[in-house]
Amino acid sequence: MRGWFIRFMHGRNGTDEFSLFLSIFCLITLIFSRLLGGAVGFFLHWLGFALLFWCYFRIFSRKLDLRQRENQKYLAAKRKFRTKLKQAKTRFQQRHDYRFFNCPACRITLRVPKGKGKILIRCKCGENFTRKS
Ligand SMILES: [Zn+2]
Repeated sequence: MRGWFIRFMHGRNGTDEFSLFLSIFCLITLIFSRLLGGAVGFFLHWLGFALLFWCYFRIFSRKLDLRQRENQKYLAAKRKFRTKLKQAKTRFQQRHDYRFFNCPACRITLRVPKGKGKILIRCKCGENFTRKS
């Protein structure tokens, strides 16, 4: 039985981080479909099964390059989301001591000390702008 499964999975994508995420998301939608019921529950029920189908489709797929590209996109999005979350947490922790502004030219976030009145902020891109700190 085990040998058959190993031969069956040979050349297939198998589980990766994206399929793990899909299976967890599927489980959450199915739980919420039971809790909510009605039209929303019906929608979540079918969304959950669609996610489950997508998850198994990815696991048994033989198109390794496509599945690995999808997984890389997922990992990049996850990394971006975690970075944004970490930055928001840091900003929240420093909200009493610093103010945060976005540079009007390059959109980068700049941190200035709070309570210094109206100050000239100089970005590393060369843009200067005035804000009340
Ligand atoms: Zn700038």
